Amino acid sequence: MEIYTIEKEKVYAALKTAPDGLSQSEAENRLLKYGLNKIAEEKKIPLFLLFLEQFKSPLILLLLFAIAISAFVGEVVDAVIIGVIIVYASVLGFVQEYRAEKAMEELKKLSAPKAKVIRDGSIVVVDAEKIVPGDVLFLEEGDRIVADARVAEGFELRIDEASLTGESTPVQKNSDALKGKVPVAERTNIVFSGTTVVAGHGKAVVYATGMETEFGKVARMLQEEERPKTPLEIKMHEIGNLLGIVVLAIVSIVAGLEFLTRGGDPLTVFIWAVALAVAAVPVTLPAVVTTSLALGMYKMSKKNAIVRKLDAVEALGSVNVICTDKTGTITKNEMTVKEIFVLSGEYFLEGVGYKPEGKILQNNRVVDSSSESARPLYLALKIGALCNNAFLIKEKNEWKIHGDPTEGALLVSAAKAGFFKEELEKSEERISEIPFSSERKMMSTINKNGKKYFLYSKGSPETVLSKCRYVLVDGKKKPLTKKIKEEILKQNKKMASSALRVLAMAYREVGKKQKYDEKDEKDLVFVGMQGMIDPPRPEVKDAIAVCKEAGIKVIMVTGDQKGTAEAVARQIGLEGKVYDGKELDEIKIEDIVDEAAVFARVSPEQKLRIVKALKAKGYVVAVTGDGINDAPALKTADVGVAMGITGTDVTKEAGAIVLADDNFATIVSAVEEGRGIYENIRKFLFFLLSCNVAEVALAFLAVVFGLPLPLLAIHLLYINLATDGLPAMALGVEPSEKDIMKRKPRMKSESIFHRMKVPLLLFSLYLTLSLFAIFSFSLPYGLENARTLVLVAMIFAELANAFNAKSIEKSLFKINIFNNKWLILAIIWEILLILFFVSTEFSAFLKIVPLSAADLVLPVFVGVCAIAFMEITKFFIFRSSS
Ligand code: ADP
Ligand code: MG
Repeated sequence: MEIYTIEKEKVYAALKTAPDGLSQSEAENRLLKYGLNKIAEEKKIPLFLLFLEQFKSPLILLLLFAIAISAFVGEVVDAVIIGVIIVYASVLGFVQEYRAEKAMEELKKLSAPKAKVIRDGSIVVVDAEKIVPGDVLFLEEGDRIVADARVAEGFELRIDEASLTGESTPVQKNSDALKGKVPVAERTNIVFSGTTVVAGHGKAVVYATGMETEFGKVARMLQEEERPKTPLEIKMHEIGNLLGIVVLAIVSIVAGLEFLTRGGDPLTVFIWAVALAVAAVPVTLPAVVTTSLALGMYKMSKKNAIVRKLDAVEALGSVNVICTDKTGTITKNEMTVKEIFVLSGEYFLEGVGYKPEGKILQNNRVVDSSSESARPLYLALKIGALCNNAFLIKEKNEWKIHGDPTEGALLVSAAKAGFFKEELEKSEERISEIPFSSERKMMSTINKNGKKYFLYSKGSPETVLSKCRYVLVDGKKKPLTKKIKEEILKQNKKMASSALRVLAMAYREVGKKQKYDEKDEKDLVFVGMQGMIDPPRPEVKDAIAVCKEAGIKVIMVTGDQKGTAEAVARQIGLEGKVYDGKELDEIKIEDIVDEAAVFARVSPEQKLRIVKALKAKGYVVAVTGDGINDAPALKTADVGVAMGITGTDVTKEAGAIVLADDNFATIVSAVEEGRGIYENIRKFLFFLLSCNVAEVALAFLAVVFGLPLPLLAIHLLYINLATDGLPAMALGVEPSEKDIMKRKPRMKSESIFHRMKVPLLLFSLYLTLSLFAIFSFSLPYGLENARTLVLVAMIFAELANAFNAKSIEKSLFKINIFNNKWLILAIIWEILLILFFVSTEFSAFLKIVPLSAADLVLPVFVGVCAIAFMEITKFFIFRSSS
């Protein structure tokens, strides 16, 4: 029998489960029986094949080919040594890339899909993979459905099935049984894996998982999508290609001249030319960039910013506006009702957090629950508890809430008067619900009390008040006059200005109906308002101050009212103009956005318009979001930031990063990390390119002056593949410079070579000329000796330059040069390695001669001068700006 034809009362039994869900042990048993709930993946590529990827560069292939030939014609030793150098470099590159790959994989696990299910009677969040047939899914707006399930309960449950059927209008689902044979798209009591809940909530019992689901049946072995390249990676490819063309041209000229004027074995000249090309074209650049982005991503995740898209890492570095939510991001989202207003008086509540203990006071005296005047108070509390989808639970002696913290706070305030939702619902069963949305700013439930039906509403005071016609005074229903309305609004303003989040409660008796909707929310009786505190997170104030110094504009975009938003903004030191959502329809957002600090009463659609306006003005925008309707704004922004705790699945999927702690300060530290990574990429770019330019220029000079080649193929490869790699990688993980958040954000259009070209060229010039000088002066004492000196001097100068690169603009005396242990280790290792070769018989392998200690004075001098030269350069170029 098809699952959709079963009567709703029999659904649980048919799937051998219960409304309380499976027990944990039964779920484990079923997992063994049915397997993991996932679409079968492709096999992984074996490691050694990944390793071979290192050799896919055409230049390296050409080199390997040439070496093979030279080995064939007799130069076996040479070939073996060059081979060793290439393998050594490849291993380094591979290890690095593998680490990056692993880091990204681990991050994927962090953002692996989860699902809410009922097990052993309570709602738990489990990995989607662990869902089994019989599990009772708990569905809410914004959830992604992770298995095929039969709806057992549904309130206004609407599902977006576009991913399955291509149909973009959401489909209404309910628990009613269907008859006969029904095609997939018309099964209105089934929710399918891969689809999302757009509105409403409900429960559904899983009957198919993994490859058994409709989605699994159509998914041809999910191909892992190729990750799109980030702008920086693309840039690096372009730089690499451009350099490649230039270098190949120069190298061909040099090689041609060398061959024509000095003769020599064509194969040797060819290998030399290819080696020079390998040396000068930074083929590894894109890979190194990817690696540093990936490792940066990993570092960010350790600070609670889980990056889902690699390009977010670099975009974060250039962010100059952060549009942030208030509730939960700036504030702690630990709501506590502190004040209740009804027309017969004001009440104050004691206690903090979710523990339902604390007195209710009026004029400093515990409220007399039997008095007539307290009736509106109790009704306000009762409505708050009944018109509510959250749960208050006691877990291991600790009170917790499940669901929206705003609603949680209302459960707690009611419980302080002895009202518990579950108890209340025993005599006033919920019949229906008109759900909350950020646009509506209110919600209602319809509850049945004996023969009577009541509609209970809660929401933002203006919205609720606009639907009221009566008001409850001392337990009596009276008309809502203009004067009373003003009094209520004044009170609301007063509460808001002390940073309270205010919700109003109202009700009315309704008739029995099949279906209730927004039109029933009219002629309500206003009962009262509850004001809750939601203290700002302590670290936010500092983070806002950091943003100010860093030239990053912060805009609070909230659905809450103006007074509350303004008060919170004041508490955290956010300065600027405050706008109300109502004003946004009349003005051009572009015109005011520069001065704006707060947008209150904003709908998700307006939020999207704010983001668009900012982008149109050239800002690089990061925007936060939690609700399903925030997804478009997140996708439009340069960096979409989704909330990890309060965010829905749909929002998280739209975000480029997910904040594990929902904290504003985390965005700021991610920006700092992003800036640091970008700087580091500039640093190793400077380091690698200045040396490469010098190598080509040196060869060019030598040929032009009719001198022998200063460096042989093997030397070039030794420098570029064996010496450069480690320090470049180490520069990629440099700790950020201390003042990184004291600089202005970089422009989006800014070239990666910004303020780097002149020092780069000057340093290359220094290197070329000093090496050329060494070569020409020592040449009369023997070619091999001269080459050895050039090689060692070059290495020392490069290692010195790795220090220079620690700060392209600042003097080394102004920074801590020992703060990167990897760089220190890399440099020590490289020095030991070259000293080993020049002081032992192994020098022959590198075609160099052993040097005495006295011989080393000159190369060391070139190294020291490399630092002195850059210090002077930095002084003259950047003096005025720092
Ligand atoms: P925010 O949470 O930032 O205030 P929302 O768009 O989520 O923004 O909510 C808008 C307004 O709707 C809130 O300021 C509040 O007055 C009201 N509201 C929030 N949550 C609920 C709820 N669960 N039920 C009724 N009204 C609510
Ligand atoms: Mg909210």
